[in-house]
Amino acid sequence: MIYLAAACAVILFIMIFYSVIPTLVIRKLEMGIKKSLPGSKGIALTFDDGPHPEYTVKLLDLLKKYKVKASFFVVGSKAQRYPNIIKRMHAEGHTVGIHHFNHISGWLLPPISLKMQLDMTEKAIERITKSQVRFYRPPWGHFNLFTLVLSRKYSTVMWSGIFGDWKVKNHKTLLQEMRKATKDGAIFLLHDCGETFGADREAPGYMLESLEVYLEEQIVAGVHFVTLKDAIPTQERIL
Ligand SMILES: [Zn+2]
Repeated sequence: MIYLAAACAVILFIMIFYSVIPTLVIRKLEMGIKKSLPGSKGIALTFDDGPHPEYTVKLLDLLKKYKVKASFFVVGSKAQRYPNIIKRMHAEGHTVGIHHFNHISGWLLPPISLKMQLDMTEKAIERITKSQVRFYRPPWGHFNLFTLVLSRKYSTVMWSGIFGDWKVKNHKTLLQEMRKATKDGAIFLLHDCGETFGADREAPGYMLESLEVYLEEQIVAGVHFVTLKDAIPTQERIL
């Protein structure tokens, strides 16, 4: 019994040093990551966890209607399943970035597996878009001790505004929260797929409703929306 307790304590200790502490330090000190756009460039709308055959297509239609360029952090396995959606994102001027090949936390990945998640997603996107991948966002914003080194060829982009849009119950406050977070240089994190653990499957439908109202009013108010590849210079390397 005492050996079991000791083994658990050692595993916990390793997990804290491998996962929790790096995440806290990197995010708190903003080491090698971006939480806002450099300079005064407008607002970046970013969407995680897709592509989804229904919601992502509706989102692309909405962005097209309002002539807005956005950014998508896609799950590599889903990108492979829906290549035409990725192709459309790229053709319509949006940025396509990496959100792991499977939606798995970096806390649970040894370095070699994390590298595989990055490489496989990069290859999947580049095979479809014929264009170099420049951006990365780790699922759940989780870093481990090796994440910054293994992802150094990409710009790691976090967010300044997060709204709980993955839960249907938050849809009543979503529009108001987005209005409050609206400021030059902001990066919004929204979700175009509700299949991730902890999310509601139908949540993106409610997000799209709020987003349409938001775009309608903000564009009239003169707010400019930018895609990451235009807002963050190519030569800029974080590490
Ligand atoms: Zn995610």
